[in-house]
Amino acid sequence: MLTLEQLQMKVPIPERNAINSGLNPPTVGEMVNLFGEPSPYKRTEGVPIDRMNRPLRDYMTTRNVGPFAMTGFVWFLWDWKRIFDEVRIIKPELIHFIRPFGCLNVRLQRGSTYKWSNHAFGMAADFGFNRTADERDGEFVERGMLELYRTGIPHKYDMFWAAEYKIEDSMHWDASTKLIQRYAHLMATKARFPF
Ligand SMILES: [Zn+2]
Repeated sequence: MLTLEQLQMKVPIPERNAINSGLNPPTVGEMVNLFGEPSPYKRTEGVPIDRMNRPLRDYMTTRNVGPFAMTGFVWFLWDWKRIFDEVRIIKPELIHFIRPFGCLNVRLQRGSTYKWSNHAFGMAADFGFNRTADERDGEFVERGMLELYRTGIPHKYDMFWAAEYKIEDSMHWDASTKLIQRYAHLMATKARFPF
């Protein structure tokens, strides 16, 4: 079993274009087409949940996903709960030590005046093993995040790891294009909340 110190160590990023084979991150246009604008307030610092547009706002909730509680789009949370349940079986130390760094945040991408972050839809999540957020240095990732990726479980659930982005963001996981299609379908068919 890996110790917390080992999970916190920085290790080189794996080969970028092999990371998310078969998965793509959604564009802002695809997100808005499927779910609408998250809010009339377009800011980079984020606005409270009650300033979100319906119907998206009705799908935002707080749930225990295993290692901690998260607030975001209900089926995105459900998928992370199932991922963490599976990870716990093969790498319990990851579940024991992983920390949340945020899911829902109704804000634009840093430095943009119009492009929503996927966090604004509650369909992106940041995790880590250190007390502070991992630097986006383009070279190193936390060993714990690499281990989570290497289980293959987030990929199986169609989660896209942002270590592949041009400006590497290895704390960050997005719902892939496949996943957002499924989420849009669940909304359109008024499916019951999974938990
Ligand atoms: Zn993020």
